Amino acid sequence: MATAEAAAPTLVVSGLQAWYGESHVLHGVDFEVRPGEVVTLLGRNGAGKTTTLKAIMGIVGKRSGSVVFAGRETVGLSSDRIARLGMAICPEERAIFASLSVRENLLLPPRVAPGGLTLERIFALFPNLAERLASGGGKLSGGEQQMLAIARILRTGARFLMLDEPTEGLAPVIIRQIGQTIAELKRDGFTILLVEQNFRFAATVSDRYYVMEHGRIGIGFGNSDLDANNMEKLHVRLGV
Ligand code: ATP
Repeated sequence: MATAEAAAPTLVVSGLQAWYGESHVLHGVDFEVRPGEVVTLLGRNGAGKTTTLKAIMGIVGKRSGSVVFAGRETVGLSSDRIARLGMAICPEERAIFASLSVRENLLLPPRVAPGGLTLERIFALFPNLAERLASGGGKLSGGEQQMLAIARILRTGARFLMLDEPTEGLAPVIIRQIGQTIAELKRDGFTILLVEQNFRFAATVSDRYYVMEHGRIGIGFGNSDLDANNMEKLHVRLGV
């Protein structure tokens, strides 16, 4: 039987504001992610999606409002402390070490929580990486680099993952593989907050969506809301 505690959201963002220096980018962002969900932030370029992930992780210049993760208020905590609560971000620029081998890239991530994936489990998820163990990170294809970047955050033990545009610039066959990986992580109980420009891809893996507009959430909806009428409105909002 589900307890009230088990049903509590993993992440509750309320009135989140963020700045880069003098530049005020988030103007009060409100949304939540429940345990085991894949939730996607959509929106036009510059709407504030990446900044929202960074603000949750505590890596923007300044932030205010509330970000409750696993029942704890994290605004005011350092990004290190936040990571050790069990969250990790895979940034758009794919944080891997180009001069280190795939193996070294996989051995280096810090443990933020117990239960990081073993190398065996990583290779089961990403067979391509097992074949490229000795290759330098910089020698990998874009798709392999993305897989390595995701693999690195899976090593940390974080159970809440934020993936920033994981399909950007990748071929359709690789995008499908990334989708399968996300579905498998969801089955394993990971909770995932995704940023995507590619709604067609997001719709294959997500439970719910929020559209960001000018540093706020415009609308939120779930898969059951996606009838033809709403899809058209969504395309207008996203400018696609
Ligand atoms: P994109 O898909 O283009 O990355 P986004 O929705 O993720 O769009 P953000 O990257 O969060 O948008 O950017 C939101 C706003 O903040 C934009 O106006 C952007 O120019 C500005 N911005 C982003 N990073 C910085 C920074 N380091 N310093 C100053 N302004 C920034």
